[in-house]
Amino acid sequence: MNLTRQPSPAAVYNPRMLSEFDLIKQFFRRDRPGRATLGIGDDCALLTPTPGRQLAISSDMLVEDRHFFAGADPFMLGHKALAVNLSDLAAMGAQPVAFTLALALPAADPAWLDGFSRGLFALADACGCELVGGDTTRGPLNICITVFGELVPGHALRRDAARVGDDIWISGTLGDARLALAGYWKELALSPDDQQAAAQRMHLPSPRVALGLALAAQPVAHAALDISDGLVGDLGHILAASRVGATLDVDALPAGPVLARQDRGLRRRFTAAGGDDYELCFTAPVANREKVLEAGRASGTAVTRVGKIDAEPGLRLVDSDGAALDLRLSGWDHFS
Ligand code: ADP
Ligand code: MG
Repeated sequence: MNLTRQPSPAAVYNPRMLSEFDLIKQFFRRDRPGRATLGIGDDCALLTPTPGRQLAISSDMLVEDRHFFAGADPFMLGHKALAVNLSDLAAMGAQPVAFTLALALPAADPAWLDGFSRGLFALADACGCELVGGDTTRGPLNICITVFGELVPGHALRRDAARVGDDIWISGTLGDARLALAGYWKELALSPDDQQAAAQRMHLPSPRVALGLALAAQPVAHAALDISDGLVGDLGHILAASRVGATLDVDALPAGPVLARQDRGLRRRFTAAGGDDYELCFTAPVANREKVLEAGRASGTAVTRVGKIDAEPGLRLVDSDGAALDLRLSGWDHFS
């Protein structure tokens, strides 16, 4: 894995250039029966919704030099481009069904397309999500995926559904992706093994699809979102939409395995406002604590209780003794 490598000349210009249609046929169209009534090849794909289910739809775009380094490993890019989209379905509690892929490529490089499509389909197959169409054009590398999922009407885990008294929970661990970025940016020095382990979290996030489904069943949880821009900023979206406040125990936040070995100040900052975590933050009534733990066990995902929803507006950060912390954290904003 070499994440800062510039693309080789062959990756930029390949004399045996594939045509747009060869490329789609060779790397993205698969001869296997899928759930779609009509898949890749016509003007539109045709999907037949499961009777009585609602559609959940989301798009996420990855832009070179903004969301990933130039020369990033194509297998990991294929995984991540779909993972960040599946993470949105997970945060809504939806079952993944299908996705489209809009790709701008500087060149039709078969080695790059091979790695990218393998990373993409490994995750797609693991989550039962079928590629049903897209668009392909030449241009600066840009990957835009739209996912389609299904859920029972009324069971979506909406951002406006948090209630005063709810517990706040986090799936998995936070902060290792931000730690990897700090290593790349030379904000701190990690051992090569630690850098590699933290980078796995940055490049190969695990969308919490099974947990989202378990939380939306019954439903167990009230509100949820996936943490892409840092917990503090993202939780703010739930608080604003639900017109509530919250108290967050920063020392209860589960740190990634590499971050867990760093000092407390760094742990607090990177768990609370790291970014690129793709974990779920959700709220659930106190009466459902046992059900939340069961949803975590059933989906093989750790869940940690980290705070509570208050009537008083605003977000209060406290330490393990309940004393106020002033960390001056903010979420990630692409335009600031
Ligand atoms: P149109 O001219 O109608 O936009 P295209 O020629 O762009 O159609 O695409 C032909 C078919 O290939 C369509 O079914 C489209 O959905 C599909 N397709 C194009 N690019 C991709 C891609 N990157 N991944 C999957 N399917 C794609
Ligand atoms: Mg087109």
